[in-house]
Amino acid sequence: MFFDRIDAAPADPILGLNEAFKKDTRANKTNLGVGVYQNNEGKTVILDCVKEAEKILLEKEETKSYLPITGLPEFGRLARELIFGKDSEFVDGGKAVSCHCPGGTGALRIGADFIHQQNIASTIWISDPTWANHYQIATSAGLKFERYPYYDRANHNLAFDRMIETLSQAKEGDVVLLHACCHNPTGIDPTHEQWEIIAKFLAEKKLLPFIDFAYQGFGHGIEEDAFGVRTIAKYNPEFLIASSFSKNFGLYSERSGVLTVVSADVETAVKVMSQVKIAVRTAISNPPAHGEKIVTTVLSDPTLRAKWEDELKGMRERISKMRVLLSHKLKDAGAGDFDFITEQNGMFSFSGLDKDQIEALKRDFGIYAVASGRICVAGINSNNIDSIVEAITAVVKK
Ligand code: PLP
Repeated sequence: MFFDRIDAAPADPILGLNEAFKKDTRANKTNLGVGVYQNNEGKTVILDCVKEAEKILLEKEETKSYLPITGLPEFGRLARELIFGKDSEFVDGGKAVSCHCPGGTGALRIGADFIHQQNIASTIWISDPTWANHYQIATSAGLKFERYPYYDRANHNLAFDRMIETLSQAKEGDVVLLHACCHNPTGIDPTHEQWEIIAKFLAEKKLLPFIDFAYQGFGHGIEEDAFGVRTIAKYNPEFLIASSFSKNFGLYSERSGVLTVVSADVETAVKVMSQVKIAVRTAISNPPAHGEKIVTTVLSDPTLRAKWEDELKGMRERISKMRVLLSHKLKDAGAGDFDFITEQNGMFSFSGLDKDQIEALKRDFGIYAVASGRICVAGINSNNIDSIVEAITAVVKK
């Protein structure tokens, strides 16, 4: 027998939560655990710009033959335009190379594989807390991870001094994973001044930045959310970025993401790309096409692009509105001061609720959230906000 000694893996905390939610028969149950955007009706709909691009593709697409290993060059170029800005030297200059990967997860994994396979580093520093998959992606790619503190629980803020202090212990050549914006799970991002300090610190310490850019456009805007990455680029000649189109195009199941690697010169970038190709070839051979063709169609058509920007703005603004409403309503209900929720960015918020309070929300009110206290603000809408406020108020007053 080969398989009888295998232990069952623990359930993925978030996917496990979804399973439990599905089984709950209460009519007014609410899922604040999932990491997908929902509209005011609680639906994760397909963006109009995506539907239109799909119609165009249906008409024009002539083959389902394989894509190049790194995806369509134009897709990579458009992704770099979003990351660095239209006029950046990294769009066409040749120092930055991009490769389509299956989602942000695929981009993180291919990036980690590349680092490991090329002996670039053996240790990656990851924020504590973070998107839980980061740790396992690092280890399954053969990297060792260390954690740096990120969250100041007492002040609902970034533990900036402790973060830098801990990263000071990193060895020259270690990798540091940073969230570009909308930090998952805390919703707390560095300020512009803090990004400057982080970027210079990494350059001085000769640490390699690896930036997870999963939520561009969900914080303050497409350009605004790129501030951190562009600041890293100002001081660090070499770095990696894993971007995702799952959230900002609502293309969750199409698995569309991009790994971009920036090198100090074009000659190095060409060699880097040749090795990234090997990493892709051995992991997935070549990428899925549909998502990247949608993104390429939308971003290269001025009308569709304007529609996308508008729809993305709509998602961002709805979440912001819910943040403000939630904190006001909680204050009015006597639950305490939740103003910090309005300072956080993106889909998620660290609510400050503890494990027992989260459990009570589920048990007594059918409201599901992650045990860490993370709630998905994108799951709140004008129909469920009052019952959410009532439930949170009841558990914090207990
Ligand atoms: N990085 C972070 C911080 C995320 O929150 C997620 C998804 O939740 C991802 C990466 C992965 O995104 P994708 O679905 O594109 O693989």
